[in-house]
Amino acid sequence: MSIRIGNSCVNCENLSANEICKVHGVIVSTSYTCDSFEMKATLKNNPNCITCDRYESESCANPEKAAQDMLCSHWAPQNAQA
Ligand code: SF4
Ligand code: SF4
Repeated sequence: MSIRIGNSCVNCENLSANEICKVHGVIVSTSYTCDSFEMKATLKNNPNCITCDRYESESCANPEKAAQDMLCSHWAPQNAQA
């Protein structure tokens, strides 16, 4: 299974502003994730290369094709502010 950067607490709808997980009631790190992960709607509803964390980076899977309105299975959301 590939390692993904998108499913961390920082992109989870359940993370409150003070870094406390609403599901577990504890402070979590941006490096954590769990089975209750729920991607923030602001990220989930607009997946394309421009909103991809890998855009114009070495980790982009399709650097020659990456563009607005394009998307591939390696898309990873940029960090969202709560
Ligand atoms: S539900 Fe899981 S992924 Fe979401 S903030 Fe809590 S621990 Fe992190
Ligand atoms: S081609 Fe894929 S990995 Fe590259 S920016 Fe677009 S969605 Fe992200």
